[in-house]
Amino acid sequence: MPTSAATHPPQTTGALEQLVERLFAATSAEALAVACQAFADANAPGVRVSWRHDASASASEGAASIILARDSRATRVLEARCPHASSQDNAPWPWIARMVRQRLDQLTDLDSLYGTVARLAQAERLQRALYTIADLVVAARDTTSMMQALHHTISTLTYAENFYVVLYDHVDQTIRFPYYVDSTDTTPPDPDATRSLDAIAHEITWHMIRENRSFMGNPETLARQASGALVTPGVPCADWLGVPMHHGDTVTGGLVVQAYDQRACYTEQDRELLMYVAQHLQTALDRREATAKLEDRVTQRTRALRETNRMLQHQVLERQRGERLQAALFRIAELASGADSLDAFYAAVHQVIGTLIYARNFYIALLEDHGDESVLVFPYTVDQIDAAPQPRTHGHGMTEYVLRHGKPLLVDDVDTERLLQSGEVSALGSRSTFWLGVPLIWNNKVMGALVVQSYSEEHTYGPRDQELLTFVSYHIANALQRRQANDELKQAYVEMERRVVERTRALALANRDLRKQVSERERVERRLKYETLHDPLTGLPNRALLLQRLEVAMKHYRADPTRLFAVLFIDLDRFKVINDSVGHLVGDDLLFQVGGRIRGCLKSRDTVARLGGDEFAVLLESMRVTDAAQSVADRIIEALHKPFRVGVKELFTSASVGISFATPAYRHADDLLRDADSAMYSAKAGGRHRSATFDDRLRHQALEVLEIENDLRRSLDQHAFVPYYQPVVNMDNGRTVGYEALLRWHHPERGVLLPGDFLRVAEDSGCIEDIDWQIFEQVCRDADALTGDAGCVSINLSARHFRAPGLEERLLQLLATHHVSPQKLRLEVTEGTLLESPIRIKRALETFRSHGMHIALDDFGTGYSSLSYMHQYPIEVIKIDQSFVANLEESDQNQSNVVVRAILALASSLDIQVIAEGIETPLQEHVLKRMGCRVGQGFLYARAQPIEVLTQAAVGNFAAHDTSRPAADA
Ligand code: C2E
Ligand code: CA
Ligand code: CA
Repeated sequence: MPTSAATHPPQTTGALEQLVERLFAATSAEALAVACQAFADANAPGVRVSWRHDASASASEGAASIILARDSRATRVLEARCPHASSQDNAPWPWIARMVRQRLDQLTDLDSLYGTVARLAQAERLQRALYTIADLVVAARDTTSMMQALHHTISTLTYAENFYVVLYDHVDQTIRFPYYVDSTDTTPPDPDATRSLDAIAHEITWHMIRENRSFMGNPETLARQASGALVTPGVPCADWLGVPMHHGDTVTGGLVVQAYDQRACYTEQDRELLMYVAQHLQTALDRREATAKLEDRVTQRTRALRETNRMLQHQVLERQRGERLQAALFRIAELASGADSLDAFYAAVHQVIGTLIYARNFYIALLEDHGDESVLVFPYTVDQIDAAPQPRTHGHGMTEYVLRHGKPLLVDDVDTERLLQSGEVSALGSRSTFWLGVPLIWNNKVMGALVVQSYSEEHTYGPRDQELLTFVSYHIANALQRRQANDELKQAYVEMERRVVERTRALALANRDLRKQVSERERVERRLKYETLHDPLTGLPNRALLLQRLEVAMKHYRADPTRLFAVLFIDLDRFKVINDSVGHLVGDDLLFQVGGRIRGCLKSRDTVARLGGDEFAVLLESMRVTDAAQSVADRIIEALHKPFRVGVKELFTSASVGISFATPAYRHADDLLRDADSAMYSAKAGGRHRSATFDDRLRHQALEVLEIENDLRRSLDQHAFVPYYQPVVNMDNGRTVGYEALLRWHHPERGVLLPGDFLRVAEDSGCIEDIDWQIFEQVCRDADALTGDAGCVSINLSARHFRAPGLEERLLQLLATHHVSPQKLRLEVTEGTLLESPIRIKRALETFRSHGMHIALDDFGTGYSSLSYMHQYPIEVIKIDQSFVANLEESDQNQSNVVVRAILALASSLDIQVIAEGIETPLQEHVLKRMGCRVGQGFLYARAQPIEVLTQAAVGNFAAHDTSRPAADA
């Protein structure tokens, strides 16, 4: 700033004094400058005085400067800095300058003191205001009052007649003015209304928020500060101060103060103050927001809790109700199975229902099937007015209504009236105020109803009661059904029990019968057992029992060799003769007595058994001495020799006894018996009426027998048995009228053997049957060649054949196979064979006879010499045994002659042919012929010859062979 140069010295002392006075009177740099300017104007034209207040200058430098300028270059009013003034204008300016400076320094000091005091005061105020703000923020009841208080506080610190708070939501980009005070604005914005930030686009507030910084100053300054255009709606302000509020980096709004008449009233201090307030306000708002959110959450939570609580309470109530109902149902179920009677059950059900609803009046109605119609009965009724209804059919009451519809019925007075009017029901019993009936349904059929009723307004029923009773009714129906089923079951049980008792009784009876049968059977069994082990005739043990005891004895002997024992085989001599002569009954009697006598010769521990026929056996145990057996045998022989008395007859017999002793060599009881038997045979062979012991000789014989047996079996396989044929001759003309097939054995070592050499062994071993069949077959082959058109071949049949079944068929089949006519065969059986099993043999012989076969009785006269039974059998021929023939003599007094003549006479009377056997001499032939015997066989005519020999010679010419006896016969 150019000032006029102080080219002129002061005109007067008065002027200087005046200046000095004024300088000292001046209380500010400005006043100093004014005084200096006035002095310069008067005394030094061209000197311009200016002043500057430097707020930022330090106290020592002075806050204000007075500049005296002569030219364009400013000069500070400091001595050192006024060289121009001092050099160009020596007086009075340097002095004035010194004065001014002095005064300025004084003022500066004063100023700085005042300033300090003012600052301190301001600081204190500010401090207090800040505390207040901080307190306000915490303490204010609501946002509005807090803002009001803030406003008030700010007002104490700066000019804040117009103040507003703007809040910005950066997410929605909306703004709101929760507090707005403006002296020019009569329609402040709604504190709760939000609007888009863009609604105030380019206004200074918009800039502040967008740019997130404070603005301060007059409109021009603001326009400079703002980036971009700035618009000012409404009354333009003179000065404006706005600071943003942040939350972190995010703008959340701002605080604004403005002045419409005072320019530049806002300072940095105000800005700081406002920023401070903004910061606190933000914190307060955050806190308030947090609190609000918290409160909101608490409220929500409280509401939720209250809701939950309400529901829980509801649930508890429901559950309590459910429990009560459940308990009731349990009770009903329990009653259904437990109560003794249906009546008790109904009463209990009533009681249970009473715990659930008002049931002072209650009845149960049930439909009962009575054949073609169902009757409604009331098995249970409790009513304060009415008596129990009578059973009824075709009724029209409310109960029937329920039954008809199969649905519950809940009616009050009015409903009942309507039902009555409509004719759906007719009045039965006293009218109730409330009537509730539910059907009892089972098996999909309405079976009855449960009814509760009330006669007063006091007790009502609602849908809930109906629901409850319906629910209960299901269970009661269920229980009733179960009960009914139970009752039926009980009935069935009773019935079953009755039947079980009946059945048990029947069973017991059957059992008794069975036991009787069992004991009877046991008795029979015992008896059978006894019989199988005993001889029925004598009551003595039989062969089986004897063998059992023998086995036991052998076991003992094996364990203790000193326990020696012996077996006695007893055979009556010539018993068969007695039997045939005096009859079976006497014979049996005799056998019985024989058993007794043998028994009498023994110690009690010994066993006597009847083996069959006239054979007995004795087991002598614990024989100390071998002689003991012998003496027992002697005693027996002696006892049996004494005469027997049978009826009036006196009979004599004798016995042969064979003895065998136990030796370690024996394996089977059978063997001991067999050897005793052998010994017995030996005794018989020795002349009968004696005993023989099975010794080495007999053992040797036995071994021989064994050997033969083995050879026999082997020879069977080799077909070593062949028939030799002996002619049967008509003695009158010497012609052969037939042949007898006689068995020969072509023994591999011993040559041709006769039956006498092996027949007994063959019989005993059972080989004879197979041997015979081999013979029979060969006979069949030879028959035609031997007989031509007439005559027949004899075969000898062992008694054993008749024991096996199928003999007849087999033999006939054999003949058929070989195309041999049965007439060509003659069967020779001995008397002994006939006696063995008369019935069986009779039947067989009759069969053979019926087929045309011939039957001859062989060895006649050796056996039981009885012709009495002859007529029973289909016998055509008898053969006089050769023993009689051999003893024939010329004299007719000879015993054999007598017998032969008797036989011939008898045969003649029975029309039976006779063949004499063993004719060896012409005398014999002669005597026989004289006695009338026409047919015979014997060496006189021919010996037996093999078929080959016979067929070589002319049939009928036997003379050539008569003398040639086969080697085997020699
Ligand atoms: P048997 O049936 O009485 O047979 C007659 C026996 O007398 C035969 O003995 C025969 O050779 C013999 N004989 C014939 N003429 C005379 C004679 O003038 N003087 C003497 N001393 N003997 C004469 P053989 O052949 O030794 O037969 C003995 C017995 O064997 C037969 O007696 C018969 O009982 C039996 N036998 C023979 N062949 C068979 C057979 O094929 N089967 C069966 N089961 N037994 C047979
Ligand atoms: Ca014969
Ligand atoms: Ca004979």
